[in-house]
Amino acid sequence: MDPKPVLPDYFSNCTHCGFCLAVCPTYNLTGDENNSPRGRLRLWSEEAAGRLTQDEWTDFYTAECVGCLACETACPANVPYGELFEHTRHDHVAAGRFKPALALRVAAAAVGRPAWFNLALLPARLLRRLGLPLHRFLFKGRPAVLQSTADYTRKLMQRYRPTGPRVAFLTGCLMEAAFREINFATVRVLIENNVQVIIPDDQTCCGAFQEHTGLEGVDALRDQNRRAFLPLDVDAVVSNSSGCGYALGKSLAPDKPVRDVLDFLGELGPVRRERHGSTARLYVDLPCHLVHGQKLAGIPSKVLDATGHRWEFAPNARDCCGSGGVYNIQKPENAHAILASKSAFLNEAEGIPVILGTSNHVCMMQWHSAGASGLVVRPYEVKHIIQLLDPGVDFDI
Ligand code: SF4
Ligand code: SF4
Repeated sequence: MDPKPVLPDYFSNCTHCGFCLAVCPTYNLTGDENNSPRGRLRLWSEEAAGRLTQDEWTDFYTAECVGCLACETACPANVPYGELFEHTRHDHVAAGRFKPALALRVAAAAVGRPAWFNLALLPARLLRRLGLPLHRFLFKGRPAVLQSTADYTRKLMQRYRPTGPRVAFLTGCLMEAAFREINFATVRVLIENNVQVIIPDDQTCCGAFQEHTGLEGVDALRDQNRRAFLPLDVDAVVSNSSGCGYALGKSLAPDKPVRDVLDFLGELGPVRRERHGSTARLYVDLPCHLVHGQKLAGIPSKVLDATGHRWEFAPNARDCCGSGGVYNIQKPENAHAILASKSAFLNEAEGIPVILGTSNHVCMMQWHSAGASGLVVRPYEVKHIIQLLDPGVDFDI
């Protein structure tokens, strides 16, 4: 693997003000300056300048970063921490200073081949459909086992023939392979709102997986997605996963912006669901890659109102849940500790049932694991907000 170019000139943007420390989950866990954005930047810049020799502590503190990007939002000097981190992580993997877990290396090789990846995860879809999730990350749901989102969309489009804006929809790799019911719900919601939906057949993984792991292959995925999405005559490219949308946005920039589907729906004023007499309470958590990556203010209140649920933001909704894409696999103890403080409120939260709503499937996995690992001891459901707008069986093929 060829190391990507390092970006040493950005390091000098840091004024060492420390505003980023308070928002950093690993600094808050450890109180260790080296485990903060400012500390990591200092380690990388000293090494780049040749004043610090490569050592295992720099490798350790680099690997400790969740990649949540909260420090970018907090930084008054606009230090592009995410870009620096991505390059550094890639360099560390290329130089053998960090080795991603075997399961992640296998998955990284597979995500660029959607047909194979979908086949490999067929048992996961089947087990979820049968209500037999095998793993603490596999939240409840009923995905179609064989029918793809592309086939389903074509049938639904033929039946309802919407006439409004045209969008190209990123179906994603893990989302399509394991959590396909969320894609189906997304398509139903869009078509019910008179949106024409196109699923480009030759789209591939957004590249977030490679970015999270530092593994090779992101450039080929970005090129393929540029070929798949850029020629399309559409009003928007939409994604229902904030991490995937953020990654695809980097691939298609500056030619085509990628919109988060909930943000897009907020402009349309989505069809509202009525839930008379419901005692359910919806707590909304905001994925890091929505607010710190895509830099959106959040999920539009018009969309949350349209769920028909009584809703409020979860405490510290803009803080990281510990998922970090694959951080909960690379650094499970840290991820668990971050989730422990974030999810504690659910044990006392009002409402029956309690619903934790968010807009990223990997955050959903992490939130589900709070119950499966005993951090949350009362029943709660984890839902994508788009599922709470879903007309469901009343609007189907
Ligand atoms: S990306 Fe998140 S975990 Fe990493 S340094 Fe920034 S705030 Fe801390
Ligand atoms: S907030 Fe920005 S400028 Fe201040 S210490 Fe952190 S990275 Fe450096």
